[in-house]
Amino acid sequence: MSSTGQEPSIFTRIAAREVPATIVAETERIIAFTDIAPQAPVHVVITPKTSEYSNVVELAAGDPGLLTELIEVADAVAARLSNGQFRLVFNTGATVGQTVFHVHAHLLAPQAAGGTLGEGTLGFR
Ligand code: 5GP
Repeated sequence: MSSTGQEPSIFTRIAAREVPATIVAETERIIAFTDIAPQAPVHVVITPKTSEYSNVVELAAGDPGLLTELIEVADAVAARLSNGQFRLVFNTGATVGQTVFHVHAHLLAPQAAGGTLGEGTLGFR
């Protein structure tokens, strides 16, 4: 149990290696892993290890440096797994699709050069 009395989030459990995931990047404060239900050829969840912030608005207000780190990790992952160009989506609120209330970004990007998708196609559903 966390100090708030809630169960640890699924992302906290992934960071703790209690739940398996394909981890693609990790720093002291951030972890990035492939989404279990990908919506694009490259779909990576990037999240702070702390579960203190439930959405990006709270993160920006509470620790803007950590938000900057998260974006730096997104940039590095997109450079490594794709062509360096990407969409970064922060669902903020249940009515727009947020299901995990531990702040995270969805990095959505095309397949790296040599992939099977057509030019400019992201393949979003
Ligand atoms: P949200 O809907 O909150 O913006 O995004 C949560 C994301 O976490 C979803 O895209 C969902 O597929 C992903 N997700 C949920 N549970 C797991 C899991 O156990 N492993 C991985 N790799 N991704 C997960």
